[in-house]
Amino acid sequence: MAVTTVYKEPAPIVDRENPLESMMSRFNIAAEILGLDESTYNVLKAPDKQVIVNIPVTMDNGQIRVFEGYRVVHNTILGPSKGGIRYDIHVHLDEVKALAAWMTWKCAVVDIPYGGAKGGIICDPTTMSAGEIERMTRGYTLALKDVFGPDRDIPAPDMGTGPREMAWLMDEFSKTTGMTSPAVVTGKPLVMGGSLGRVEATGRGVMVSAIAAMKKLGMDPTKSSAAVQGFGNVGSWAAKLLCEKGVKIKGVSDISGAYWNEEGINIDEAIAYKNAHNGRLEGYTGATSMDPDDLLISAVDVLVPAAVEDVITEHNAERIQAKLIVEGANGPTSASADDIINRKGIMVVPDILANSGGVTVSYFEWVQNRLGYKWSEGMVIERAARIMNDAFEKVYATSQKYKVPMRIAAYIVAIDKVAQTYKFRGGY
Ligand code: GLU
Repeated sequence: MAVTTVYKEPAPIVDRENPLESMMSRFNIAAEILGLDESTYNVLKAPDKQVIVNIPVTMDNGQIRVFEGYRVVHNTILGPSKGGIRYDIHVHLDEVKALAAWMTWKCAVVDIPYGGAKGGIICDPTTMSAGEIERMTRGYTLALKDVFGPDRDIPAPDMGTGPREMAWLMDEFSKTTGMTSPAVVTGKPLVMGGSLGRVEATGRGVMVSAIAAMKKLGMDPTKSSAAVQGFGNVGSWAAKLLCEKGVKIKGVSDISGAYWNEEGINIDEAIAYKNAHNGRLEGYTGATSMDPDDLLISAVDVLVPAAVEDVITEHNAERIQAKLIVEGANGPTSASADDIINRKGIMVVPDILANSGGVTVSYFEWVQNRLGYKWSEGMVIERAARIMNDAFEKVYATSQKYKVPMRIAAYIVAIDKVAQTYKFRGGY
C-alpha cells in the first residue's frame, strides 16, 4: 500500500542575509532618490500574489511524497509576469519573493513588456529520478494552471531546471487547457518552439555587459583576467564567451570546489570535462584546486559571481581585488557589502542588468511562438546585444546623473518605468 509522507526540508535562511531584505534596501534607496509617491511605493513593495502548493508525487519506490512549491507574482503592470522556476533544497518563500521582484525590475530595465514572477519547489533534484521530477513538474503545473498562461504568467528555467522540465510543463498545460500553448513557457527544447540562442543567452548577456563596462573603465579585454564563480549554465557560457573576447579566465568554481590556472583555464576543455563528469569539475586537472572562498578575493580584474545569492558580503567585500564585478547570479551581493564595494570604487554591473540576457531571449522565444515563426540565431544574438547595450547605456547615464552606483541606477530606471506606467493606467 502506498504511504504518504510529507517531504518538507526546513530551509531556514540562517547564515545568509535575507534576500528579500537585501532587495528592499536597494529599492528603498532608489525610491527615495526618485521621490516615489507613497501609494506607488506601497503597491510595489509587496507581491501581487503568492501561491503555495503541496504537490503529491508517487516516488519510484511506490511511496507518495508531498513537495511544497511556490509561485510568486510580484507585479504585472508592464505585462504578463515572467520568471523562472527553481528546484532546490534551499528554496524559501522569502527568497522566491525577492527573486520575483528582481524579475519585475529586470524586465523594466531592459524594457521588455513583462512583469515579474518566480517559482520554486523545495526538493533535491540530484537525488530524484527523471520520472519523479517529471511527475513533480506535472503536478506543479496542474496546481498552478490558473496562474500560468501565455498572457498571464510565463515560467522559464532557473536553478535546477532546464529545457526538459519546460517541455513537461508546456505539455501538461496544453493537455489541461485543451490547446497547444508553446508560449506558456520559455526555455523549451528547440524542436518544440524553443529559441535559438536561449540556452547561452544569460551567459552571453553577462559577456556583453562585462565588455560594455570594461570599455567605460578603459580596460582592454585582451589584457584582463577574470574569475567566474559557478560553472552551471550561466557561469560556463559567460566564461567561454569572455574567453573568446580575449579575457584570461584564471579561476572557476562549482559545487565541487574552485580551480585556478595563472596562465588561463582552457574553458572549452573544462566544459567538456564537466559534461563528461556528471556536470561537475571535480578531478579536473587543467588547473590546481583552491579554497572556493579565496576565488572571490583572488587577484583578477573582473569577478563574475554566477551561482547563488549572498556570496559577496560584509565579511569578504573588503578583500575583493577585482575592479569590476558582473553579477551573473541573482542577488550575489548582499546589501551589507554595498558600501564597502562603493568605497573601494569597484564598478558593479548589477544582476538585474547583467543577467537580463536570459529573460530577453525568453521574450524573443515568446514572440516567435506567438508569431508561429522562427528567427535565425544571428538575429537573436544581434537583437539581444542591442537591448542589453541600450540598457547598459541608460543605467550608466542614470548613475552619472544621480551620482549613484550602477546598482541603484538600475533600480531607478526600473522603478521609474513601472511608476510612470502606474500613473497612466491608474485605477487602484
Ligand atoms: N531564471 C532566469 C532569470 O532569473 C530567466 C527568467 C526567464 O527567462 O523568464 O532571469
